[in-house]
Amino acid sequence: MAKEERHSKRSRKNDIESIDMDTIAYEESSRGIDEPIPIGVVPDLDVLPKFMHAWVIRKDRHGDPKKSFKKEIVPVPDIGPNEILVLVMAAGVNYNGVWAGLGEPVSVLDIHKHDHHVAGSDASGIVWRVGSNVKSWKPGDEVILHCNVESEEHSARTESASDFISYDPMASAGQKIWGYETPYGSFAQFTKVQAQQVLPKPDHLTWEESASYGLCYFTAYRMLVTQAKLQPSEVALIWGGAGGLGVFAIQICKMLGADAIAVVSSKEKAELCLALGAKGVINRRDFPHLMYKQGETPEDHANRFSDMKRFGRAIWDILGERRNPNVVFEHVGEATFPTSVFVCSRFGRIVICAGTTGYNLTFDVRHLWMHQKRIIGSHFANALECVRANELVRKGIIKPVISETLTYDDIPKAHQLMYENKHSGKIGVLVQARRKGMTSTKDAVKTLKSVT
Ligand code: NDP
Repeated sequence: MAKEERHSKRSRKNDIESIDMDTIAYEESSRGIDEPIPIGVVPDLDVLPKFMHAWVIRKDRHGDPKKSFKKEIVPVPDIGPNEILVLVMAAGVNYNGVWAGLGEPVSVLDIHKHDHHVAGSDASGIVWRVGSNVKSWKPGDEVILHCNVESEEHSARTESASDFISYDPMASAGQKIWGYETPYGSFAQFTKVQAQQVLPKPDHLTWEESASYGLCYFTAYRMLVTQAKLQPSEVALIWGGAGGLGVFAIQICKMLGADAIAVVSSKEKAELCLALGAKGVINRRDFPHLMYKQGETPEDHANRFSDMKRFGRAIWDILGERRNPNVVFEHVGEATFPTSVFVCSRFGRIVICAGTTGYNLTFDVRHLWMHQKRIIGSHFANALECVRANELVRKGIIKPVISETLTYDDIPKAHQLMYENKHSGKIGVLVQARRKGMTSTKDAVKTLKSVT
């Protein structure tokens, strides 16, 4: 069935018995008025309310996710000529939502200067409205969103749709992360993005699977493929192998013919990493002194050095030879960085995109210069990398890893789980998708009709 047809107005005569009370109430009362559509309802494409449901962070309630996220009704954002309004079917939970709620290291409201912040940098959804310059997408298209917002300055220099290939928009000082440095992210019924942020939804994936991978997977892709230039037969050490970034880093290593050694903190997480294709797993709990802490005593230092050497030997045991990782995949930061520099091979690369445990990195620089190792900073990905990486998902080569799918009401809980490191892989949340397991708009509408 053509997408336009799927969205054609429902025949009230045929449908009215099978749709639920929320939808009936909505259809009978809110056409042409400002009220939000109910959560879990996919209306006809011509419906566009002025207001929407959203989980909102405000400056006066920064803190734990349980406290900082509050349900509100806010205006549906207007779009500019190069932008697209998307009905959010499902969203993905990322650590940047935790940072946004905490207001650390800075309040995102001070960055975008808007009075409220809707977090969320991953989504799947349906294109609802397109700006006057947008030619590549139309209302009804099923899509996912990547989170790199190009700067106006960059866009002004872009003369054709393929210009982004010639230079990297990540180089622009005005580059931003959608749903973190911009106020309208994915934890709302509608979100707005630049047209270049839109990618086709993989047909075989559910809304929640499609919403789950973009931010972490595209970041891991840039880190390993573009920045570290990981080669077949090389070895990569992956910190947090069962986390959001880690589950994709392991799969990318496997795809490239490199050996991933994953670091985790539990048996269950170890099993996940092995199932994803890691060559071996190290449980960091077996190395109680490994983590660097500020203000360590000479004794702490000696204990840590001893654990670092044991940790290095654990890598050799997995590889069956005295071989060090060519690439270290870093995001933990302060606690692990000295170990990362120490165990990395001669001429190896430590590629880093975050400092979850702290930003002030302390390490013995002799290990770096004597063995000519390189530290490479990396941040998200550009549109070309996102397009290429998304094709691998569409072909089934890279797979999303969702530990649980929660409801719209559970968005603060989902962030709290992440904050407390009680999850594996990615957490998905449903917004306008009424239940788990739906792969298309048709499915969403069918489910809606079957609810009595
Ligand atoms: P997750 O929480 O899903 O995973 C992080 C993993 O790190 C956990 O699974 C945990 O694994 C491990 N970890 C936590 N504390 C420690 C520690 N003290 N020592 C060693 N390992 C630890 O987060 P994500 O993977 O989604 O993100 C990680 C970081 O990267 C966040 O700070 C996030 O904001 C950032 N990020 C940055 C991006 C960018 O573009 N710059 C993009 C995506 C993420 P275990 O307990 O099993 O060891």
